[in-house]
Amino acid sequence: MINFADANILYMERIKLHDKYFKPFISNKEIIEAIEKIALKLNNRYKNRETPIFLAVLNGSFMFAAHLLERLQFNCEISFIRLSSYSGTASTGKVCEVFGLDLSVKGRDVIIIEDIVDTGNTVAELFRILTEKGAEDIGICTLLFKPKAYKKDLKVEYAAISIPNDFIVGFGLDYNELGRQYKDIYVLDES
Ligand code: 5GP
Ligand code: MG
Repeated sequence: MINFADANILYMERIKLHDKYFKPFISNKEIIEAIEKIALKLNNRYKNRETPIFLAVLNGSFMFAAHLLERLQFNCEISFIRLSSYSGTASTGKVCEVFGLDLSVKGRDVIIIEDIVDTGNTVAELFRILTEKGAEDIGICTLLFKPKAYKKDLKVEYAAISIPNDFIVGFGLDYNELGRQYKDIYVLDES
């Protein structure tokens, strides 16, 4: 039989992805608790609204989206889009095209689900596109938020965890496509 407490400790060790080392930073327990708080906030906000649409930004948000959605107590839709602005460990500031936005958002409540909001370029660009397509109300929901890096005026209303300007991986987030499957979050270890 699997002992989950032990399994958790096994995962919390330094990991190597490509050429870099990452050390444990946020445990799965802390992540889940933060997601529960955000779910509560969303349940209060949307319980009396018309079926909102969640738009989860792939690839990074897949784990967060699943854990968040299973805690929601109102009727909602979910769709997955791609919108890439990042390579390596530094934001390029460039935002590419949106793929997969094939449903109509006109007149709808939309909630963006992001893995992480850093400078805010990605989420601001998506916000602009959704506004242009006639979304009625747009909420921004993210697992991680870097307030010191954030450069936009848009309110990030549903941010589960605030972190310093460090590069992190795990729970959906990658370093050049590795590290997404870890249940905990790790931070770049430069020592
Ligand atoms: P922004 O456009 O807000 O500057 O950056 C957003 C995107 O950059 C995120 O969706 C994510 O893909 C990537 N990103 C920003 N910071 C980190 C980080 O610390 N770790 C990882 N893995 N990706 C990050
Ligand atoms: Mg992303």
